[in-house]
Amino acid sequence: MRWALIGASRIASSYMIDAIRSQNADIQSVLSSDAARGEAYAREHGIADSFTDLDALLADDSVDAVYISTTNEKHHAQALAAIAAGKHVLCEKPLAMTLDEAGEMVRTAAGKGVVFATNHHLRNAGSHLAIRELIASGRIGKVLSARVFHAVNLPDALRGWRINDAAAGGGVIPDITVHDADTIRFHLGEDPQEVVAKAAASGLGEGVEDSVMSVWSMPSGAMVQSHESFTHKFAGTGIEFHGTDGSIYARNVMTQEPVGAVRLVDADGEHDISYDKHNLYHRALGLFADAVNGKGRPSADGVDGVKSLAVALAVREAAQSGKAVAVNYGGF
Ligand code: NDP
Repeated sequence: MRWALIGASRIASSYMIDAIRSQNADIQSVLSSDAARGEAYAREHGIADSFTDLDALLADDSVDAVYISTTNEKHHAQALAAIAAGKHVLCEKPLAMTLDEAGEMVRTAAGKGVVFATNHHLRNAGSHLAIRELIASGRIGKVLSARVFHAVNLPDALRGWRINDAAAGGGVIPDITVHDADTIRFHLGEDPQEVVAKAAASGLGEGVEDSVMSVWSMPSGAMVQSHESFTHKFAGTGIEFHGTDGSIYARNVMTQEPVGAVRLVDADGEHDISYDKHNLYHRALGLFADAVNGKGRPSADGVDGVKSLAVALAVREAAQSGKAVAVNYGGF
């Protein structure tokens, strides 16, 4: 398979170029809005071509798939152009700025018959796969509640558009709440129904929220409590599920690395749960390649991306209005 990168981004250089190449795939080209940066990026990463014109990049028939990792407001138009050119698409989260845009991307890809996936990495973690298996096999009984701890210290290098550019999709809700929404959906197999929320700028956000707490109700009756922030230096991450027959405590697992601890507590005592420590992004790229070859589905597909965005948009609306908001999935 041959790929093009749409966006000369940090996530591509730190994780995705390696992940694409881990599947014996080539990266042919990169798109940057700045010719000099694009050329330097291509040189540094051993990529043959760099473009500033998307149509020129997409005109290359040897390219099968694109990975879109520009700032969030660009994903929609770039994905539609790539789909029109017949490319398979792996798009970064949030898929788009609005639900209508995200839905259009997914429906257009389905109409064109190309694979469309969302880069929700956490579903690929061995820790989360183990948690999901514990829940699905009934080890904690009926799930009553979940708590997500995803308040981090945003690294200095990432303190650009994320904290000061609402038009580019900045703010902790589009950045991290989308991941937590996807992770909860992955574990519980159901979609949040209604949310209440409070958001704040607590030291970093300039015109966008840098912290948010929200509570979601689930169709099963389970309740979810979720906390995302860019300003917490020492909080650590984690996720917990509490059921009628047991509780799962996972720490340091809301991360890009295959690390963290998973513990089950039930009537028999405490059990450390072992899991496979593979690279999260390698697994995602492997499943994407399989889907392109007609086997299975990507770890998070386009509908998953639409739904995680829908939850994030509801959380933001709830925080802004001070009211409970029913999640609108736009017909998905
Ligand atoms: P970056 O800020 O690194 O890149 C975004 C855009 O910023 C690039 O496309 C590039 O534009 C421009 N840019 C990059 N470096 C410079 C520079 N030195 N000067 C000026 N402009 C620059 O973003 P991230 O990699 O952090 O995030 C990109 C996307 O990936 C977002 O949608 C984000 O939500 C998502 N993401 C997902 C993660 C995951 O694990 N799933 C993790 C991190 C991010 P151009 O291409 O025009 O050169």
